[in-house]
Amino acid sequence: MKRALVTGGSRGIGYAIAEQLKEAGYEVFSPTRQELDLSNKSSVQNFANAHSGDVFDVIVNNAGINDINDIDKITDDEIERAMQTNLVSPMMLLRAFVPQMKLQNYGRIVNIGSIWGIVSKRGRVVYSATKHGIHGLTKTLAVELAEYNILVNTVCPGFTLTELTKKNNTDEEIAKISLNIPMGRMAESEEIASMVCYLVSDKNTYATGQLIAVDGGFTSI
Ligand code: NAP
Repeated sequence: MKRALVTGGSRGIGYAIAEQLKEAGYEVFSPTRQELDLSNKSSVQNFANAHSGDVFDVIVNNAGINDINDIDKITDDEIERAMQTNLVSPMMLLRAFVPQMKLQNYGRIVNIGSIWGIVSKRGRVVYSATKHGIHGLTKTLAVELAEYNILVNTVCPGFTLTELTKKNNTDEEIAKISLNIPMGRMAESEEIASMVCYLVSDKNTYATGQLIAVDGGFTSI
């Protein structure tokens, strides 16, 4: 049975990814925040040490935070927390678990980006920087790891109807945003998860280093 590590699997897109991978027959390990706090470097290092013997065939760096602030209002803490959670910790996790993938000559990695890692919007200085950064990580690893049959891609969700989106936006606000999406609606988490599951499956034997937007056409306008 193949083993998958999925961060941020408690809800939203990560939950849908974990569920679809389980349905596809993977053993999914999705650590809680107590087991792995991505905003805390020591927690990531401790997690890596505690699981140093573990072999993961699939790693999905999904967890992420999105604080919105203009450049002149951003605090050092916001910058450090978002950089650590969205970019540095995924890099540390891959540093820890890629050697095992290399030994078994097999691996599938998906890093979750964002439409704000393709285009941007006011207030997304830090978030956008981390999401552009994660694709740099993807591309470099795709080049470095291709000879080990390890494929690495970025999936960029568009506006997705997670519980958080529903909590933070009224139905009217969701309808207004949807007017700017060619598909005329937001994504369901399962629609993002399907793309991730394809990319990490054995059906994907050659796509690597790619940034794939699942955004209903939003970034094509
Ligand atoms: P979400 O509903 O806010 O859930 C975030 C997940 O990340 C939760 O499982 C949360 O765990 C975990 N997490 C957050 N901070 C963490 C930390 N410090 N340590 C460990 N886990 C942490 O997120 P989502 O909307 O599904 O987004 C998932 C990914 O898609 C993110 O990378 C996000 O940037 C990206 N994305 C989302 C959208 C969207 O519209 N939803 C659009 C574009 C991109 P807890 O349960 O412990 O809080």
